[in-house]
Amino acid sequence: MNILVAKTFKPYNFASFKSVSKQMILKLIQILAFVALSGSVFFLAFKLYKRIYRNIMLGRKQVINDNIPERLKNTLLVALGQKKMFKNVIPALLHLVIYVSFVITQIELIEILIDGFTGNHRIIYHAVENIPFLKGFYVFVVSFIEVLSLLTLFVTFAFLYRRNLIKIPRFQKPELNGWPKLDANNILYMELTLITFIFMMNTGDQAKYLLQHGHTYGFWVSGLLAPALSGLGETAITIIERIGWWGHISMVYFFLLYLPQSKHLHILLAFPNVFFARLIPKGEIPNMPEITKEVKLMMNPDAAFAAPTGEPEEPVKFGAKDIQDLSWQNLLAAYSCTECGRCTAACPANQTGKLLSPRKIMMDTRDRVEEVAKSMDANNGVWQEDGKSLIENGYITVEELRACTTCNACVEECPININPLDIIIQLRRNLVMEDSNVPNEWAGMFANMDNNGAPWQYSQLDRLNWTKE
Ligand code: SF4
Ligand code: SF4
Repeated sequence: MNILVAKTFKPYNFASFKSVSKQMILKLIQILAFVALSGSVFFLAFKLYKRIYRNIMLGRKQVINDNIPERLKNTLLVALGQKKMFKNVIPALLHLVIYVSFVITQIELIEILIDGFTGNHRIIYHAVENIPFLKGFYVFVVSFIEVLSLLTLFVTFAFLYRRNLIKIPRFQKPELNGWPKLDANNILYMELTLITFIFMMNTGDQAKYLLQHGHTYGFWVSGLLAPALSGLGETAITIIERIGWWGHISMVYFFLLYLPQSKHLHILLAFPNVFFARLIPKGEIPNMPEITKEVKLMMNPDAAFAAPTGEPEEPVKFGAKDIQDLSWQNLLAAYSCTECGRCTAACPANQTGKLLSPRKIMMDTRDRVEEVAKSMDANNGVWQEDGKSLIENGYITVEELRACTTCNACVEECPININPLDIIIQLRRNLVMEDSNVPNEWAGMFANMDNNGAPWQYSQLDRLNWTKE
C-alpha cells in the first residue's frame, strides 16, 4: 500500500509553483509598465501633433487639389526618393544611410511593441522558428537592421564631425546659434544612444540564447559580440538585454515627443510639404487678384458700374504682415524646413554679405507661429493681438526683405521643394502696398509710374521726342 501511494502520489512542487507565479507576476508588471508608458506617450504625442496641425491651419485658407498625379510623382521622387539631395553626392549618401536605417529599423519595432503589450519575448521569432524559410527571413531582416545600425553609427560620427569640427559655411550662419545648433546635435546624440541600446538588446539576447542552447539566433553583428558577454553569467546578461530593450523603446518614444519642437519634424512633414508644393514654373509670380481688378477698372471705367459680382469690394489686406496672412501651405513649409541651409548657400544676396538668408525666413516664420501658438495656448486657444507681426519684432527685417533679387536659387536648391521666395514676396507686397515702406529711390519710380505710366520722369506725351532728334 505504502509503495502504491509512493508511486501514485506526486507531492506538490511549491518551488516550481513559486517560480511560475513569480514569472507571471514579473510578466504582468512588465505588461502594465509597458501599457502605462505607451499610453502616456501616445496621449502626449496626440496632443503635440494636434497642436502642430492647429498651428499650420492658422494660415490663410488655400485649396490645393490640382494635378494630383504630378503631386504624387513629386512626393515619390523628391520626398521618398530624395532626388534633389543627390546634387551633392557625399552628404546625400550619408543622409541616405540614416534615412533608410530610420525607416527599416521600424520593422523591428513592430516585434518590440507586440512583445511589450503581450509580455512575450521575440514573439515573431518563436512563431517562425520551426519554419526554416521564415526563420531565415527573420534572421536576415534583424541582421540587415544591425548592419544598417552599424553604418548609421559611423555616419552619425561623420555628421557630428561635419557639424562641429570642420567649418562648413552653411552651418556657421548666425541663425543657427543657440537652439538650432543644439537641436541638430541632440538628434545625433540620440541616434548614438539608440544604436547602443539596439546592440545591448540584441547582443544580450543572443548571449543568453547561446548559454541556453549552445548557439545564437544567428544575427550577423550581435552574433559576433555575443560570445564576449557569455562569460558574465545569465543574470548579468539578462540585465544588459533588458536595459537595451527598455532603452530602445524609451528612445523611440522620446524621439516621438521630441520631434514637434525640432527641425527633425521634416521626417514626417517633408511628404505633405512636397505633395502640396506649388507646381507652376518657378519664375512665375502669381498676380494679386485685387490689383488685377483695379487695373481692369482703369482700362475700362464703365465696368465699375456693372452689376456686383459678389466679390468683396475692398481687399482686406495687400500681401502678408503676419503668419495669419500667409497660406497654411507656407506654414507647413516652415514646419517642414530641415534647416540644411542649401538655400542660403545658393542665395546671391547672402553670398554678397547681405543679411538675407532664406533659411532664416523659414525659421523666423516657424518661430512666429510658435509665439502665436503659445499665446493661444495660454488663452484657451483664442488669439489675442499682441501688437507684433512677422516683419521686424525680432523676426524678418525690412533690410532682409529688400535684399532679395527674386532669383529663385533658394527654391531650386531646397531638397524638399520649400519656397522661401513666396513668403518674401508676400511680406514685401505688404510693406510696399500697405505701409508705403520703400527706399527713396523706389518712391520716385513709383510716383513716376503713377503719373507717367513709366518709371521715368517724363510725361507720357514726351515719350516719342527722341524719335525727332
Ligand atoms: S530668391 Fe531671394 S532669397 Fe531666394 S536665393 Fe534669390 S535672392 Fe536669395
Ligand atoms: S528652405 Fe529648404 S534648403 Fe532652405 S534650409 Fe529649409 S529645407 Fe534647407
